[in-house]
Amino acid sequence: MDVKPRPHPHAIMISVPYQGHINPFVNLALKLASKGFSITFVHIEFVHHTLSKAHHNNKNEVDFFSQARESGLDIRYTTINDGFPVEFDRVIHFEEYWESILRDFPARVDEFIEKTIKSDPFSAHFIVADTSYSWPATIAKKYNLVNVSFWTQPALVFSLIYHLDLLRENGHCPCKDNIDEEINYLPGVESLSTKDIMPYLKESESKTIVYTALSTSFQLVKNADFILHNTIQELEPTTLSSLNKKQPNYAIGPINFSKIYLTTTITKSLWSESNCENWLDSKPPNSVLYVSFGSLVQTNKQVIEEIARGLLLSEVNFVWVVRAGIVGSYDSDVLPDGFIDEVKEKGLIVPWCDQITVLSSPAVGGFLTHCGWNSVLESMWCGVPMICYPVTFDQPTNRKLVVDDWKIGVNLCDDGLTLLVDRFKVAEKVRSFMCGSDENMGLKEGIKKVREVLHGAMEIGGSSEGNFDKFVDDLRGKIY
Ligand code: UDP
Repeated sequence: MDVKPRPHPHAIMISVPYQGHINPFVNLALKLASKGFSITFVHIEFVHHTLSKAHHNNKNEVDFFSQARESGLDIRYTTINDGFPVEFDRVIHFEEYWESILRDFPARVDEFIEKTIKSDPFSAHFIVADTSYSWPATIAKKYNLVNVSFWTQPALVFSLIYHLDLLRENGHCPCKDNIDEEINYLPGVESLSTKDIMPYLKESESKTIVYTALSTSFQLVKNADFILHNTIQELEPTTLSSLNKKQPNYAIGPINFSKIYLTTTITKSLWSESNCENWLDSKPPNSVLYVSFGSLVQTNKQVIEEIARGLLLSEVNFVWVVRAGIVGSYDSDVLPDGFIDEVKEKGLIVPWCDQITVLSSPAVGGFLTHCGWNSVLESMWCGVPMICYPVTFDQPTNRKLVVDDWKIGVNLCDDGLTLLVDRFKVAEKVRSFMCGSDENMGLKEGIKKVREVLHGAMEIGGSSEGNFDKFVDDLRGKIY
């Protein structure tokens, strides 16, 4: 067969099947396509099925990028099987899932890429894969593809894992639990306490699959040609410039707010979104606390009860996302008895919502968040200060950035890391945060400035936009 070169460089993009990874990945695909690249976007079959169920009455033949193509973007869409049935719960069975992703998924990707390249007369030029995956370096080498790694969390978290060897040499990996020692030897990282590093670097979690998977993938990311970060140059300048001395790194965030996203709507929410707008419109400006712990956090009924009671005692208006599965099972009676009746017009409880729309409402004056990185970026973009309740993964480290460094949030618990919460303390914190205390006034000033930084970064001539263009030039240079 006469193989014609594809008119534009062609990327295969594979995301991790969790909401906090899917959102930035889809937006990166749109942005790359808007710069003239051809994209084959690959969802895990489970994601395709879940999106279809949530938004299209189970119609499995839906092509989630057809609207992008109608707008003139060259994005094809397909799926890959990860070895588990679509019904398998990849959150509740997180360990089992990631053991298999580490062990068996690389062979599936290999087969998929081989088939794609063989069947595609235009072949492929580069892959864009989540940094959390272990397979990109090997696959890219085998098929002679440029390897673009996309990191969806802050550069600080990246740098901690990237420098595991230094943490090991200094006795901080695995790090003893409950110690407070200074880490002041990582290139480009200002001093931080061991209490603020990710829980999976600590002794109690050092045998977990998160540690194994990330330590493996970060060895291999050292072979990536380009590393993209969903962060902002102005917020993490020294960390990024230090990483840049080793490999080409580009801060291109917040990617969820690139201009192309604002004009092209692609279905990516794993659950259908309840409408909160009418309820929010009925509330005075800055009077509502938005409460959400993202798509992965699992807690217990006691914590939910204390937060529920604390919210009521605070007498502050709230929208609370109580996701199915938040307590690690699908019990329907997660909230305390009688709570819904007691809330009346003070609160709106929903299983899932369009978070960016909620945060953009003038009624919302604060966000009680688990500090997932997308949530932090979205809150900053919308100029909403945060109350931080980090639980796991990168969240405790993100908290440090929000509260200690950027001063745009406060801790829910005194030390910022305790998981046990008390209803009276929750009520006191929420009330003083929402009712214009001096502390809150400082946060408002801080969040206004950070908001401007984020918006500026995404403007033409802004840092993220400029970094993206530089990446595109460098990538084209590498391909041709
Ligand atoms: N999100 C949403 N609706 C909700 C709660 C969350 O659309 O009710 C989105 C949110 O906008 C964010 C993502 O889900 O983009 C969660 O990502 P994050 O990194 O904050 O947390 P994770 O779910 O990965 O812990």
